[in-house]
Amino acid sequence: MSRLLVIGCGGVASVAIHKCCQVSEVFTELCIASRTKSKCDALRKELEGKTATELTTAQVDADHVEEVIALIESYKPDAVLNVALPYQDLTIMDACLETKVPYIDTANYECENTDDPEWRAIYEERCKRLGFTAYFDYSWQWAYREKYEKAGITALLGSGFDPGVTSVFTAYALKHYFDEIHNIDILDCNGGDHGYPFATNFNPEINLREVSAPGSYWENGKWVETKPMEIKREYDFAQVGKKDMYLLHHEEIEALAANIPGVKRIRFFMTFGQSYLTHMKCFENIGLLSTTPINYEGKEIVPIQFLKALLPDPASLGPRTVGKTNIGCIFTGIKDGKEKSIYIYNVCDHQECYREVGSQAISYTTGVPAMIGAMMVLKGLWNKPGVFTTDEFDPDPFMEALNQYGLPWVVEENPVLVD
Ligand code: NDP
Repeated sequence: MSRLLVIGCGGVASVAIHKCCQVSEVFTELCIASRTKSKCDALRKELEGKTATELTTAQVDADHVEEVIALIESYKPDAVLNVALPYQDLTIMDACLETKVPYIDTANYECENTDDPEWRAIYEERCKRLGFTAYFDYSWQWAYREKYEKAGITALLGSGFDPGVTSVFTAYALKHYFDEIHNIDILDCNGGDHGYPFATNFNPEINLREVSAPGSYWENGKWVETKPMEIKREYDFAQVGKKDMYLLHHEEIEALAANIPGVKRIRFFMTFGQSYLTHMKCFENIGLLSTTPINYEGKEIVPIQFLKALLPDPASLGPRTVGKTNIGCIFTGIKDGKEKSIYIYNVCDHQECYREVGSQAISYTTGVPAMIGAMMVLKGLWNKPGVFTTDEFDPDPFMEALNQYGLPWVVEENPVLVD
């Protein structure tokens, strides 16, 4: 019996809410709150009559802490699931702290205005100190650890697929298969085809900022940064086939480097087709990926936000996307003095997701773990005061829930390794 406040009503939120509504015995009441209330009302209308979860909706601009606090005080949720954008992480964390309500999200904090001089000074110091230049990192949210501990509430960070499930896979591998993990390769393959010349599978602004940035990986206790898309490999993915994949910076590397004892190297690869990369390079070359506002006929516009308005809404890709995703981690390390390697992965079919919840597999593979993360916290299974990533709890109940709620996984022994 619990009451969840979900903030955001985009592609990921829609799946998380659909899944919560399938588990009404846990999520007895749920409030869908977002900037555009009409989207929340439309989703509520779609779900009502099909679920025992009691749904309400609200308007909230989560950039304003006081608005989130007022909503929490009036709705009185047992937890808040933030599936808005990474830009709202800190304001929502502040509101949860003020009202002493547990917090869950799927992506770490990123500053919307990267030209803000105050933010930039902290960012540039961090680039020098840590050695990677991504706009997002955990330092902003890890700074809340003591405050959450004192308030006696849990913040669960990054409960999507990657980050999220990939870190649960790591904790599971360490618990059941290894004495020590030495190398982790996280492989994110999308073998889906939506038929458009160019579209992103989740929020275009967040996606393009991530993909066009320099890559980096963790090796022997430090970050190694690469040029964007500099490191390319080919891998033959189960149920998808051979794909080119590129090394990217990714946020779970930071948490796993801090939390997995003895780890020597952590890399993250994502598959991209040549057409996607050519389009992206062209947008970049003509300035359309810029976050710096320009003046156009007397109005300020941010180029990447203008591009977002032109591109297909990721939530609309569901009916047209065919094919499968394959996301997982290859681990190598030591068990009982012997070297071993395993690959834990999930395969998800875009059309099956669409038939079940009306979304493609990228939203599905993020929304399901978001629901499971909220369920772990609400059931008290993952509940300790402080700020944590998903590798810092017992992985077993989460792994069981993945099998139960639509993201079954397999463990392959002696997989083909990435060189
Ligand atoms: P969408 O753009 O589809 O949805 C974002 C939602 O947030 C929209 O409903 C939007 O409202 C709302 N929103 C934006 N700003 C505010 C605000 N100030 N106050 C209240 N609501 C706001 O994004 P996605 O669903 O694709 O992504 C959601 C999150 O999931 C992102 O943080 C993304 O980084 C993360 N993600 C994580 C993954 C993982 O595996 N861990 C993978 C994919 C995504 P409006 O309709 O008004 O614009």
